[in-house]
Amino acid sequence: MKVTKFGGSSLANAFQIQKVCNIVLSDEDRKVMVVSAPGKRTKDDIKVTDLLIAVAKARLAGNSYEEELKKVIGRYEEIAEELDVKQVLPDIENRLTSIAAADYTDDVKYLDSVKAMGEDCCARLVAYYLNSTGHNAKYCNPEECGLYLKHDEAGKAVILDETYDNLAKLKDEKDVLLVFPGFYGVSKEKEIITFSRGGSDITGSILAAALNAEVYENWTDVDNVFAVNPNLVKNPFPITEITYDEMRELSYAGFSVLHEEAIYPVFKNGIPLNIRNTNNPSAKGTWIVSKRTHYDSLVTGIAGDKGFCTVTVSKYMMNRQVGFLAALLKIFSDEAISIDHIPSGIDTVTIVLRKKYFTPEKEAIIVDRIKNELGCKVSVDHDLAIVMIVGEAMANSVGIMARAASALSNAGINLRIVNQGASEISMMFGVSESYCSYAVRVLYKELFRY
Ligand code: ASP
Repeated sequence: MKVTKFGGSSLANAFQIQKVCNIVLSDEDRKVMVVSAPGKRTKDDIKVTDLLIAVAKARLAGNSYEEELKKVIGRYEEIAEELDVKQVLPDIENRLTSIAAADYTDDVKYLDSVKAMGEDCCARLVAYYLNSTGHNAKYCNPEECGLYLKHDEAGKAVILDETYDNLAKLKDEKDVLLVFPGFYGVSKEKEIITFSRGGSDITGSILAAALNAEVYENWTDVDNVFAVNPNLVKNPFPITEITYDEMRELSYAGFSVLHEEAIYPVFKNGIPLNIRNTNNPSAKGTWIVSKRTHYDSLVTGIAGDKGFCTVTVSKYMMNRQVGFLAALLKIFSDEAISIDHIPSGIDTVTIVLRKKYFTPEKEAIIVDRIKNELGCKVSVDHDLAIVMIVGEAMANSVGIMARAASALSNAGINLRIVNQGASEISMMFGVSESYCSYAVRVLYKELFRY
């Protein structure tokens, strides 16, 4: 069986919803569909989730929220009228109205419960529509199905292990198409918890893993994932196949195809993930797999991301001091700062980290501790972008680093950090933030336009 997930642009209006239903019904192995909230109908439109966030924020600020709520209800009305299923509207309207007016003393819980309604109402509407057209479909309630989540220390929603066993029971539902709302689950106390934005991808991945699906189809609005951000390069090379490891490396450097946390459940269970286009279902899409069957090119993709900084620590004869690195890293871990890379010289170590976690307060504490406890010189630089060249086929092939470095040097881009692990799956370059997009373009031209 196949688990399908449809993003907001695939459900933005009645016409798109009809397309989605046709896609699901055209393959009887597609037994589960996970839906997002209706997205933008035009470039300047507002997603239902954003409208719901505005409702919750208005209420929390003590302002009137009715106007915003009307806009949300209006979106469902428009869809239901065009699909000729107006009978579903009183139920949707009641739910939205009562959730928006519910207790809001805990603002985080209130915001989560309002936000989740975009997906919830969409799933109810789609199931109703399928039934109205003579198909056997059923809305699945995440609470009743046991999709349990909790918050970790950082407030991030994490999946409780028992969720997988609970969802596996959906296998017993025979001859019915299951319509599951994405983006949220419940705590053991039955309170709604949402994932971070784009989290319906995670719901689909959990369901595919729990049901041991043959494939997790993630339907969006592009034919393929591209080898480079299409906003940077015209008609970039399409990726037909990529491994989970390659995808992970590219996502790290800013590739935003799927929610980052959506990869793990399917990866752990070896389930292939197929990215497809709702507006062009005949395109085969991009396959994310554990093991590649073919290579279209030596390099799979190139990505760049800004927002890094470096802490460079130097001390004469550092390399002779046993335990130095451990003591240095402990200072960062005491401050709960995670480290991304550690390029080093004989008497210097550079710690590369994400700026967003390295607040000015943390920076002051860490710099002081390194100076006082380790007796080192410290300098911090806040201007670093990471550019990654990723491709499993690069392993054992000679000369890619030379080509990449000389293309960057010919373009006048200074390389501040260079890193390649022994697995040879990726090469990393650290450049000034102002050069990030330019470096990606230069590398793409060199490595893809051979
Ligand atoms: N509707 C949510 C969002 O806009 C979740 C999703 O679409 O995956 O982020």
